[in-house]
Parts: sequence; structure tokens; C-alpha cells
Amino acid sequence: MEIQVLGAHNCESRNSRLISLLIDDALVLDAGCLTSSLSLEAQQKLKAVLITHQHYDHIRDVPTVAMNFFLQDATINIYSTLAVYDALSTHLLNGELYPNFLAKPPNSPTIKFTMIEPYKVEQVEGYSILAVPVNHTNSTVGYQVTSPEGKSVFYTADTGPGLADCWQHISPHLLITEVTVPNRYEDFAQESGHLTPSLLKQELISFRELKGYLPPAVVVHMNPRLEKEIEAEIATVAAALNTRVNLAYEGMRLHL
Ligand SMILES: [Zn+2]
Ligand SMILES: [Zn+2]
Repeated sequence: MEIQVLGAHNCESRNSRLISLLIDDALVLDAGCLTSSLSLEAQQKLKAVLITHQHYDHIRDVPTVAMNFFLQDATINIYSTLAVYDALSTHLLNGELYPNFLAKPPNSPTIKFTMIEPYKVEQVEGYSILAVPVNHTNSTVGYQVTSPEGKSVFYTADTGPGLADCWQHISPHLLITEVTVPNRYEDFAQESGHLTPSLLKQELISFRELKGYLPPAVVVHMNPRLEKEIEAEIATVAAALNTRVNLAYEGMRLHL
């Protein structure tokens, strides 16, 4: 399994992109920068887009990728929750802001949307997909993706602390999680459902206690302006736990 980090941040600029993780050129986790980071040819190769929640930084390129598929008479598979379906159909693909690709063209809509059910393993293009609720919006899910060879990654999506329940359901070889702000913003993180390095440390300790091991971790969703501070604090966490925790960056490739 090869995972390519297309976008690793929570703010976009010329130097940072919103979240998208590409697995084996076929599956994508979140749609923050699908069209801005992939050629038309690479977009056409996508087999499925899995979306964690409806926040704009995670769905932004759904309309634009759908337009590219529509213009090629192709269909794109999107897997997510009812909350994401509702947000797309009400606010973005509502026929006013943009065409309703969930229903257009009528005989074969450009977007084939499949509702996922938490805790139920779904087979998608040979991969086993398990959606597990995390602590962000009341319907945000993380995804464990297991390849046909049995390699698995868990992406927590945006989440605040309190992941012990979530950890019970997964056993990944690699953990991709979030740290949005440094430790001095802990109040903000708690209120908005995000992690700081020290909050992540507690979650990793709980993972190790529950599962008896700790996979290497890669962190995404950093605020670019605060990234240096986050990086220094993450290094302290990794050293204290004697484990690997690295910040992701656009273009990073992870091999499992
Ligand atoms: Zn969010
Ligand atoms: Zn986000």
C-alpha cells in the first residue's frame, strides 16, 4: 500500500493544501484538494472517495471533481455519512451553487453516493473499509483501510480527545491522525474537537495500553502558521513515548 499525502493542512495557501490522502492512486480519504493536486488523468483513475465529515476543508473539491467526471461522461464513487450527503445536496450541489451531480444526469448520476454504516466492514475495490466514529462533529468517522495484502492504515479524520472507544475497533499498521494547534491552544482544541501534541500524547498512551502496541503515527491538519511550534512539541511527544510521530507534508509518500 502506498499513501500519498496530497494535502496536509487546515488552511490553504500557495504552500499548503487542504486534506486529501491518496491510497494506491485509487482510493482517496477526504476531498480537500482533489482537483487542485491531481491531473485530470489521475482524477480519472480514482475508484472511490471516502469522506469523513462535512466540514468545508474536507469536501471542498467534491463539486470540481464531479464536474471533471461529468464532462467525461464518467461516474465517481463517493462513500460517506448521511450528514455529508445532506450537506452536499443542500449547500453545494443544490442546483443553484452548482449542478446537482448526485442526481444528474438522471439515468446515471455523475456521483454514485454510497452511505456507510459505522462499525460495518465494507468492501471497496478490493479494500476493506471500516468507518469508526471519532470526537469532532456528532457524525464524523475515521476510516481504517485494509489492502488486499492485509496492510492497514487508520485515519482518524478531525478529532478531539477521548478515542479509547475508537481504538477498540481498529488495529492499523500506520496511524494518520490530526494535530491542529500547539499546546497553548488547548482550550480551543477541546472546544472545537481537535488535538494538540499533548492531547495526542494521551491518546497514544491509551492506544498502547488498550492494544499492546503503538503503530508509527503521521500527523495532518496542522495550522501552517503554527506548524513550527507543533513540530517541536510533537518531537517531544515522540521522544517521551519512544515512538515515531512525524508531521505530514504535501507530496509525502508512505509505504506499508
Ligand atoms: Zn472538521
Ligand atoms: Zn478540518
